[in-house]
Amino acid sequence: MRIYISVDIEGVAGIVDGMQGNLREGGREYEAGRRLMTAETNAAIEGALEAGATEIVVNDSHGAMHNLLPDMLNPKASLIQGRIKHLFMVEGLDASFDAVFLVGYHASAGIRDGVLNHAFHPYELRYNGTVWSETGLAASVAGHYNVPVALLTGDDAAVRDGETILPPHVGVSVKRGITRFAGESLHPDEACARIHDAAKRAIEGLSGFSPMKLPTPITVEEDLYYSYQADLVAMMPGVERIGDRTIRFQANDAVEAYRTFLASYYLNRAAS
Ligand SMILES: [Zn+2]
Repeated sequence: MRIYISVDIEGVAGIVDGMQGNLREGGREYEAGRRLMTAETNAAIEGALEAGATEIVVNDSHGAMHNLLPDMLNPKASLIQGRIKHLFMVEGLDASFDAVFLVGYHASAGIRDGVLNHAFHPYELRYNGTVWSETGLAASVAGHYNVPVALLTGDDAAVRDGETILPPHVGVSVKRGITRFAGESLHPDEACARIHDAAKRAIEGLSGFSPMKLPTPITVEEDLYYSYQADLVAMMPGVERIGDRTIRFQANDAVEAYRTFLASYYLNRAAS
């Protein structure tokens, strides 16, 4: 049984604000952030192994994507790291996996109690008219490959988002968001214990979960923060400018939608 784990950092217990310097290399508390992220990943791996998983691939999905500490990771898992990946937060995911775990995930921009809320670069991203998060992006690619999301961990707002947009799965919150930059976390040991237990239940309950299947074609809209970002993205073939800060494109499937979205993100990053 092959399990794919995508790990972000903003939804990890003990992480509430980038000012702590725990999100980026060179930050004051970055080493502590990496340890917390790695510990929650191990909790998910160990729960999956106990429930019968035999192969685990972990994808570091935050920032420059070399945050997880390779020598601290459970030796049963292999680790995908690095910055330019064609499927970014779900690089390496394909139809050979039995389940996906999303660990340390967070809510989209504008959710008031979502700690460090955002979804890549737009203020609001929509798939077929529904506000879409990084959770939705990952789940839709998994669904394209017929793989269900079995476990979602993060703050309360991330878990709520999962309950709204994902098919049935196990969701576990490790943090209660207060504002975008404040929250009440479980102790890291308690967060890991709950993730461990939830991962086990997710594998045991796998037969009850189904992949996310979106109606196609998928209409993707991005409300950008600035007009120049829409100017840039509208240069891409197939992208239509529908407002001062809003662009739209259609994709034949969830992988095409995600890759086109990623191209718009990289284009923006490179130009900003
Ligand atoms: Zn993220």
